[in-house]
Amino acid sequence: MQIIAIDGPAGSGKSSVSKAVAKELGFGYLDTGAAYRALTWAVLNNGLVVANSTAEEIAKNFGYSISLDPENYWVKVGDLDLTYEIRLASVGEAVSQFASLPQVREYMHLMTKELVHASGLAGVVVEGRDITTVVFPEAQKRILLTASEEVRLGRRSAELPEGTSIADQVTKRDQNDSKVVDFLVPAAGVHLVDSTELDFDSTVKAIIALIAKD
Ligand code: C5P
Repeated sequence: MQIIAIDGPAGSGKSSVSKAVAKELGFGYLDTGAAYRALTWAVLNNGLVVANSTAEEIAKNFGYSISLDPENYWVKVGDLDLTYEIRLASVGEAVSQFASLPQVREYMHLMTKELVHASGLAGVVVEGRDITTVVFPEAQKRILLTASEEVRLGRRSAELPEGTSIADQVTKRDQNDSKVVDFLVPAAGVHLVDSTELDFDSTVKAIIALIAKD
């Protein structure tokens, strides 16, 4: 099985680019940020307890499932489809707080590895903050997708609900997150792709070319 690991800050375009790369290669696609968002939603709305819980207890009580099909993406907690709810500003504002808990990260790492290895797919593009360094350091290709802060803020502003502070959503979250995992600087062996000057299609092409190269 081939694992393509893609990290990047908020607004770098990593989710849409990773999904397009997976479609192009006929691979599965796994958005690991969705699990942190769904967990945050479940703590805020569904009585999930993560403070003072173990990774095993979180695994037992969370009820999380996600599609690995880039053509049919969904996220569920129990029977509830949360594909859209997890993008709400209330979730985005609270997610870093729970993502910094060691037991949450331990659960996420185990769950991500299990999902990928049990998928039976020829390959999976996995994206998220610590995927190239902590979760899949053994991946066939490891890529850090970045862009200037100005470009990232511009891209995110198109996705956020009206009245949301873009700078708060993007820069503050990145600053909080980078205290836990430094995803802003490429680790040894990780390829840097800077999309500041690239449009969407050129970014996808650059990553496919990188994957094809030995
Ligand atoms: O990728 P996305 O911006 O949707 O991720 C939401 C949040 O989940 C991040 O801000 C971060 O706090 C957390 N996260 C993480 N590790 C990952 C993926 C996401 O800590 N692999």
